Amino acid sequence: MKRLQLHHWILIAMVVGAALGLALNWAGTREMVDADTVGKVAMVGKEAGDLFLRLLQMLVVPLIVSSLVTGVTGMGDLRTLGSIGGRAIAFYVTTSLLAIVTGIAMVNLIQPGAGADLALLEGDVSGAPLITEAPGGVGAVLWEQLKGLVPKNPLASASEGDMLPVIFFSLLMGVFVSMAEHHEGSKDASVVRRFFSGLFDVMMQMTLFVVKFAPIGVFGFTLYAAAGKGPGAFRVLGWYVVTVFVALVIHAAVTLPLILRLASGRSPLAYARALITALVTAFSTASSNGTLPLTLQNVEEAGVKPQVASFVLPLGATINMDGTALYEAVAVLFIAQVYGVDLSLVQQGIVAITALLASIGAAGIPHAGMVMMVVVLDAVGLPTSAVALILAVDRILDMCRTTVNVWSDSIAAAVVDAQE
Ligand code: ASP
Repeated sequence: MKRLQLHHWILIAMVVGAALGLALNWAGTREMVDADTVGKVAMVGKEAGDLFLRLLQMLVVPLIVSSLVTGVTGMGDLRTLGSIGGRAIAFYVTTSLLAIVTGIAMVNLIQPGAGADLALLEGDVSGAPLITEAPGGVGAVLWEQLKGLVPKNPLASASEGDMLPVIFFSLLMGVFVSMAEHHEGSKDASVVRRFFSGLFDVMMQMTLFVVKFAPIGVFGFTLYAAAGKGPGAFRVLGWYVVTVFVALVIHAAVTLPLILRLASGRSPLAYARALITALVTAFSTASSNGTLPLTLQNVEEAGVKPQVASFVLPLGATINMDGTALYEAVAVLFIAQVYGVDLSLVQQGIVAITALLASIGAAGIPHAGMVMMVVVLDAVGLPTSAVALILAVDRILDMCRTTVNVWSDSIAAAVVDAQE
């Protein structure tokens, strides 16, 4: 028998975890197993999953810093960096906007929130006052995002897992290591470059080791979700989930593959196959940052140049979140429908722009997108407490949108690679 590969084990772990969890949940509701036991088993699953996620997260800061510094200095000429960076950012913004438009179209078409009974939804917030004016408007949101790019203290940002300022600092560091080496002829600057490139190699090795535990983590998480919540957890918010899901599928299976095919000539199916480990991990961990080590590995195995991958992917894992952008837009429009608020075209435009900003600002960790949604709700004057409405189904949607985020990052790498 052919030896099973890691991604086979991950898939098996997911299926077995879900089956076991659903069976437990079923037995629990029929009192064949007492609820306490079901809860305990679910918690063991969660702890196992959390431990694996921690292992992955442990790698993220050193990996991102070393990968970006190495990526930038590896490009040698700063003009190459400018062109790769420019292309990557153009890709990020274009695909995120396309995702948002898809989401807005679907939510207007399906109308998941129309006529919904507020009281049926968990965490009823119907008493919350409706505000009509956005406190700061889009300009203020934009400015906050820009200001937040600059770390007051890069080490503090790193220790808080605040990745955008860390990325900003790492990029600058890469640029100035290159400048010092090439322009100023500093011998010692090359020590810094070699240090980070060595660190990067070490981090990749460490990643390969940690990833071997993925099946255990994935098994734990799925067991937890299935045993703890059961199939009924999603019923009330069914249409909302369907809307987000359908829009995500359209974006991931139509828009992005088309872009990949046209801009790089690669076969989307073959590319998806090469990325399967990263995609499955993204789905089960709901963390683009956590998945980054695997994304890097898979994308390079698929033949994308390491200099491109090690620059485009870390940046993408933090700022390119198509799935999250789409989700923000759909969720806010859904909430508006639930409240019976008719958003004008201009207001939907504001939702689109702030959803884009929120997705850029969201960290690549579980539930970050939901936290950022406050920004979008605020911009169109909906009560921020309405986030409570969709809390119950956030995890499953997070898993789906994170997969799309990682898929989009990987496509960005292939597209930029093909154009260099
Ligand atoms: N979990 C997502 C990610 O890591 C971010 C989000 O919550 O939307 O990409």
